[in-house]
Amino acid sequence: MFSSLYIHIPFCIRKCRYCDFYSVKANDALISAYCEALKKELELRKSGVQTLKSVYIGGGTPTILPEESVKRLAAYISKGFGFAPDAEITIEANPGALDNKILQTLLNYGVNRISLGIQSFDDADLASLGRIHNAEDAASSIISARDAGFKNISLDLIYGIPGQRLEDWKRTLLKAVEFFPEHISAYELTPEKNTLLYDDIHSGIVEMPDESLVSDMFMLAGELLDAHGLRQYEISNYARPGCECRHNLNYWNRGEYLGLGAASHSFVDGLRYDNLTDVESYIKALSNGELPAGNSARLTEEDALKEIIFLGLRKSEGIDIELLPPHAIPLIVSAADPLALNGLLECNGSNIKLTRKGMLLSNEIILKLFEAL
Ligand code: SF4
Repeated sequence: MFSSLYIHIPFCIRKCRYCDFYSVKANDALISAYCEALKKELELRKSGVQTLKSVYIGGGTPTILPEESVKRLAAYISKGFGFAPDAEITIEANPGALDNKILQTLLNYGVNRISLGIQSFDDADLASLGRIHNAEDAASSIISARDAGFKNISLDLIYGIPGQRLEDWKRTLLKAVEFFPEHISAYELTPEKNTLLYDDIHSGIVEMPDESLVSDMFMLAGELLDAHGLRQYEISNYARPGCECRHNLNYWNRGEYLGLGAASHSFVDGLRYDNLTDVESYIKALSNGELPAGNSARLTEEDALKEIIFLGLRKSEGIDIELLPPHAIPLIVSAADPLALNGLLECNGSNIKLTRKGMLLSNEIILKLFEAL
């Protein structure tokens, strides 16, 4: 039984240089066929639903859908599911693909949270990322969302961009807090294979900033955002009290969720599964009345234990080790003690959490804990 729904809209105007998410260029016919397929998938998968507490429409760039498609989609969702009175309904949007009419339509259909892909307020950074917008577009998209009536705005930012200095990152952070967002996500740029950025790095055209600068950028984000009332509640996420993203907290808490759309993921009844990635194959499966099934895996007890550790330690509040299987508790405690002595973990009673310094080395720390099991 799940109470979180994710809907994937895999369309973008243009591919950003660092992006390895699946997305394609949209046209009206493809969008229309995709919305029809989403409706069919919703019908096939909706059994087992509880009242929805969160919906997240992500992409891609969901706001490139024409107004008519947004209305169709909203109608399918509201017909298919019941909503908790305080349900969090988020849409991702990008500056350069957002107008006042679509903002108003989203609000009218109950979308109450918008996550804007700002990434930077520096034109050189945005050009190096291959974004379609500039710093001015970024600022005006936030103002438009606020003026339209969005009371819960999240800004996505990226640091560790080639050529970006600590003072450039600080300027982007200071500009971001000027808009009093309820939430900020700050991600380190990671060059993924099959991206233009990765190719440029490997052919020596572009150089990534060194590790110590990226660490300084992470620490600066934590300190500066904290000073502006945005508390770090997850390695890459900061929020005003009560504005933490409920949908994402459900992922980190290993709650169940249903994903609809090409390349979406689901976790239902202990089964993690995904959908076909390719949009055409996804549409074809559903037009034949078949589920667009990709891979699936039923979690073993060991998988579940590892998930509790690596997802739980992403959160600033950490994990309660008393909730782990009894055999794992002494093993985790003995692996955690030396890490705590080095200032990477804090252990208080049954609670274990990463310090901010530990968050910088989260992958290595989690590996050490796994090795102890
Ligand atoms: S807008 Fe987002 S999903 Fe689309 S290409 Fe850029 S980073 Fe990827």
